[in-house]
Formats: sequence, structure tokens, C-alpha cells
Amino acid sequence: MADFGDADGAEIEYRSQKTGDRMEFENVLKKYFDKLYTEIEFVKKTYNALRELGFNDDNTIAATCICRDEISQTLRSIIKHMWGEAFNLSSLAGMFFAGKTGLAAAMHHAPIEGGKERYVFYALPHIAIDSEGHLGTCRRTGREGKSVACGALDSFQKEMSDGRVNLTMDNEDVEQSLIRMRLLREIQYGHVPDLLELTRITQTVIQADLENTIKKVVHIEKSNYAVITGIQIHSAESNYVSPEACYAVVDGERTELRV
Ligand SMILES: [Zn+2]
Repeated sequence: MADFGDADGAEIEYRSQKTGDRMEFENVLKKYFDKLYTEIEFVKKTYNALRELGFNDDNTIAATCICRDEISQTLRSIIKHMWGEAFNLSSLAGMFFAGKTGLAAAMHHAPIEGGKERYVFYALPHIAIDSEGHLGTCRRTGREGKSVACGALDSFQKEMSDGRVNLTMDNEDVEQSLIRMRLLREIQYGHVPDLLELTRITQTVIQADLENTIKKVVHIEKSNYAVITGIQIHSAESNYVSPEACYAVVDGERTELRV
């Protein structure tokens, strides 16, 4: 396992001695998320929990399903650093569009130890939140003004707000077309979620689609695997993860990870 210095895997507590931007930002986040880790804390915590169940960087292949956005890649880098390498299942917004072929490819690259293959799937959408609590707002290095994350979800959210959603497949915009079609199945007709609600819906969709494909492709008798989900959050100074479902299936039995 890679060494990440003094990151001790502890959950962030909203301690009074914290100062400045981080304190302010965490107070904002506290309104929206029950649990919060830095990315390093999150990956380290999940790695340690999975190590107790027999997964490690020698016998396991990691795979990531996160947004293509460059500000999301810190998490992918940490996962790669900690687990060795990481198969890339990602699409815009972190949607799982790699399908059975993508998942099977990741599995066929796994080491085999004691007759078992082991996979760890990290699957998370993302959202930026600024220190005043504005959803979707971030800044990009070398660019003036505000930017948006997740841009794909924000664009879809604006279309819903405007009452104009194109439900056809645009062959010149395949992933965004799939995002609209897939997410609209989960949104009540006429309801327009804000960006945070849409991000939460996206998280459940990514998890459901990944799990559905796992059921079809993964052979339980010869594979142990873990599903790690949550929401990646960007602030001006750091990235965080709020965990959702985190579990492992070992010898066919599901164990919740203490994350
Ligand atoms: Zn994005």
C-alpha cells in the first residue's frame, strides 16, 4: 500500500480549532452531508477495511467510474496509487456506460490468487460547492470567473429547468444523450431537481447500473468484489468524499464496510 503521510483515515470532525476557509466550507457541507472524508482518508479507509477481508494491492484490481472532469482525477490518482493500477470505466458525470464489455475487460485483467479473482469498484458522481454554499460552483486554474461541476449534470439540470429536454440520441453527443435518457427514468414527470438532488439521483443510478451488470458478468464462485460509492465534492482548496454504499462480497456473502 502506498504511504500517504499523516492521513490517518479518521472521519473529519467539525472541530472548533479549524480556521479559515476549511472551517467555513465544512460548516457549509455539514448542511448537506452527514459524513465527510478527504479523498486520501476515504481511499485509505476503504483500503484498510478491504484488507481485513483479504483484498490488497497485490491480489486485487481496482476500477474507477468517475467523471471525465480533470478536477475529479485526484481521486482516481489516489486509488491508482493505493491499489496499484485502476481500470477506467468512466464516462461523463461518472455514469456507468462501460457495460458488460467494459466490466468483463476489467475482470479479465485481475490477478488470480487461491483460485479467486478480486475486484474493487469505485463509482462516484461529483459536485462542486463553494464556501457560500452555491451548488456547482468552482474555479479553474488559469481561467477568470466561475466554472461548474459537474458540467454534464448542470447542463441537463438547466434543460429541465427550461422545460426543453432533447430525448433523442445525438450521435455527436452520445454520452450526454445517454445521461438524459437514463436519469429521466428516475425523475418524476414535471419535477426539476436542483443540482445536489440530481447528483444524489446520479449516484443511485450509477450504483444500480453497476450492480446490475455485476450480477450478469461476475461469477461469485470464483470472484470476490467490493462496491464503493459516494459523492465526490470539490471545494476551492480540497476535494472530499461523502460515502454512500460501501460493501464487499466475499465467497458470496455481503459485508458492509465500516466507512
Ligand atoms: Zn462532471
